[in-house]
Amino acid sequence: MNTKSRILETGDNQISYPYNLHVSNKKNGRGWALGIDIVKYKSQIDYITAHSLGTVIKCVDYLSGTNGVPDREGMGYGNYIILRHSDTLCTVYAHLEKVYVKEGDTVMPGTRIGLMGNTGSSRGAHLHLELRDYKSPIKTSSSLNNEQLFTWLDPTRYINASLPICKKYSGFIDSISTSGVSGWLWNGIDDVAEYATVRLLRLGKVVKTFSGKASAYRSDLAVSGKGNGHHAYDVRIDLSTLPSGTYTVDVIAPDGTVLGYSTPDSPHTITVPTRVFSPGSAFRLSSVPVYNAETGPSIGTRSGTYYIHSLPISNGRIRMTNLRSRVGKPGQVSFWVEAGKL
Ligand SMILES: [Zn+2]
Repeated sequence: MNTKSRILETGDNQISYPYNLHVSNKKNGRGWALGIDIVKYKSQIDYITAHSLGTVIKCVDYLSGTNGVPDREGMGYGNYIILRHSDTLCTVYAHLEKVYVKEGDTVMPGTRIGLMGNTGSSRGAHLHLELRDYKSPIKTSSSLNNEQLFTWLDPTRYINASLPICKKYSGFIDSISTSGVSGWLWNGIDDVAEYATVRLLRLGKVVKTFSGKASAYRSDLAVSGKGNGHHAYDVRIDLSTLPSGTYTVDVIAPDGTVLGYSTPDSPHTITVPTRVFSPGSAFRLSSVPVYNAETGPSIGTRSGTYYIHSLPISNGRIRMTNLRSRVGKPGQVSFWVEAGKL
């Protein structure tokens, strides 16, 4: 994939006829379609590449015939291709010399789809590029060019940027355990690995979140058309600093969309067991203040796994040590912490 342009393979594109001129042409009855004209800097001819992940829903090759039949349906477009990028958003590539894809093909950003040309009503080789937003989800490729069915958007600012598609997140939680939450999350447009955020809630309030990228491959996702299939997540969670109790678990997409559960009737909760304070029990500390005695000021903080050295809890503090082998042994106390912080 080139990095200079999402439209021309070499990236050396320049706009030869901008959107506002198409608009004034249309007002004056001299044109019909709104878009921008692109030529290649200097030598003009270039390969045309797909702007974004999409499906070829219209492919007209009227010179050699679409499906073997001469096709003049393109009006002034000559040979052209329409790609659908969401339920309603399409890009149109017109005046092509050659088309390299067929209807139904899935194209990736940067896939070569045609060769710039001078077919249809065109004076000089150029690409006429349109961005259309259909008013309702496109079901059939007939009457795609019915102007009542869509509005044009100015594609200029999207030449090298993502399309103005509202991401439509979908996904599920497949499994929940005390160490992680897994499932899949897809943005509905492209193969950007989105962040899945696991939330632990108590009494409807979020008490802890964990995030992870939904980037792992799952063949069932690829087969069912969820982009390239690299949209599974397995977010690790750490309950060691949470008070005991039962937490509701959910997962949200970057826009706050709450994902459903693939098994709706299974419990969607995690229970953090009541802390057992007995010599040798391990606790994970996260910047917990520590003390060198049952009373007195803190001597700093500790993070990591530590063990209860011995009981009792004195003055609300409990003795801890850094090695299991030191548990209970005199003279091996590392520090004291507030039991309530464990
Ligand atoms: Zn044009």
